[in-house]
Amino acid sequence: MDLSSLTGHIEDLLTACGEDPEREGLKRTPERYLKSLEFFTSGYQKDPQEIAKRGLFHNPVEDMILVRNVEFYSLCEHHMVPFYGVVHVGYIPNEKIIGLSKIPRIVEVFARRFQVQERMTRQIAEALETALAPKGVGVVVKAHHLCMMMRGVQKQSSFTVSSSMLGCFRDLKTREEFLAHIHSPGPV
Ligand code: ZN
Repeated sequence: MDLSSLTGHIEDLLTACGEDPEREGLKRTPERYLKSLEFFTSGYQKDPQEIAKRGLFHNPVEDMILVRNVEFYSLCEHHMVPFYGVVHVGYIPNEKIIGLSKIPRIVEVFARRFQVQERMTRQIAEALETALAPKGVGVVVKAHHLCMMMRGVQKQSSFTVSSSMLGCFRDLKTREEFLAHIHSPGPV
């Protein structure tokens, strides 16, 4: 994806905000902004199943596997400003497990797009369900939304929690085990 043909539009935007796009500090800003935007939306070019496929292993484990605190940065589709936070992922394998480093990469695929938190949460859970056919998968996302913090209600300390529970994670006992692991202290 190449957005570099849009620099004129960003100059117009700066002018409309009351700026002089010719001023020294802003000269290359449209170019830099569009480069950043290409990166922020790079998830559209990526296929989560392609990523997962390269990290699947047969393993008859039947216990819960968890990856906590996967950082993410995304853009809210309503305001095009960031929301960011952490993702916690847990699953109970059926026959396949996934390389742990693939989970953050799958999170990136969905975070690097225009998003709403609820959809991103579900997309991560469904991508893992498709890739692993596990007994169950659970995803919890906690995020700060700059559109709530910098504008609108300006609530700086509020954060939003969303979850998606599939398969056996819908059962109360499994869900409780998952949530207890999320809230337990880390290794250090
Ligand atoms: Zn928003």
